[in-house]
Amino acid sequence: MRLEGKVALITGGASGIGLATVQKFVEEGAKVAVADINAARAQEVVDTLPAGSAIAVGVNVAVFAEVEAAVASTVEAFGKLDVIFNNAGIAGGKPLLEHDPAVDYEPLIRVDQDGVYYGILAAGRQFRAQGGGGVIISTSSIYGEQAAELSFTYSAAKAAVISFTRSAAYELAEYGIRAVAITPGRVGTAIINQFSDDLKATFASEQLRNKMTEPIEIANVVAFLASDEANVINGTVVHVDDGYSVF
Ligand code: NAD
Repeated sequence: MRLEGKVALITGGASGIGLATVQKFVEEGAKVAVADINAARAQEVVDTLPAGSAIAVGVNVAVFAEVEAAVASTVEAFGKLDVIFNNAGIAGGKPLLEHDPAVDYEPLIRVDQDGVYYGILAAGRQFRAQGGGGVIISTSSIYGEQAAELSFTYSAAKAAVISFTRSAAYELAEYGIRAVAITPGRVGTAIINQFSDDLKATFASEQLRNKMTEPIEIANVVAFLASDEANVINGTVVHVDDGYSVF
């Protein structure tokens, strides 16, 4: 098993990509903290997993003290932390000139950008306190590398995730810590499933093989990136978009 003996904290673990990654990590032998703002749903996820393999942690990643507490709860339950997957995120947007900054900019930046920064900071300190090592994986998006309709704020936050990843890899290398960002394309989760069938078909057609990605397909890559087999993948972006970014 690829992640035997590893302990991981997965934010947004109650749904979509995070949920699939929780399941994959447990299958691969990891102990997992399922961290989500929806604590009840996180507990339901834990209840489906083998006893002792996971804990549920209620966290709002937009609040640093809560992210620090989530790291502490993980260490208390499993004795250490090896991997953080900064994956919690929200989407949404309006045309730029219709923005109310308090509604259309600040809340999304708090979660999608600040939440990743807080995860890197809290996990990085824990990794250093343990004597080094550790992997930071963060979910960006294809939109982190391009402009897109109604995505001014989301693109900014997801671009910051890529920048955080490079800088974290650079600054934390002295502690043996790796950092990697992933850029999913069109993944069949709650964020996408809210749209009409026509729009979903359009989304699928934007990927080279005209197929929406399944959350488990992303989780498979995250499990590899978290493993020691991916030891030379550091400070970079791994595109998990089935060819979307060739356009
Ligand atoms: P999802 O809505 O299924 O899951 C997101 C999870 O994050 C939910 O469980 C939600 O409760 C949790 N969450 C939201 N705000 C939170 C907060 N403040 N603190 C803690 N948890 C919070 O969506 P998903 O598609 O699985 O999204 C996961 C990540 O993937 C997000 O960062 C998203 O931006 C990114 N992404 C998704 C797609 C896609 O096509 N689905 C594409 C590119 C990037």
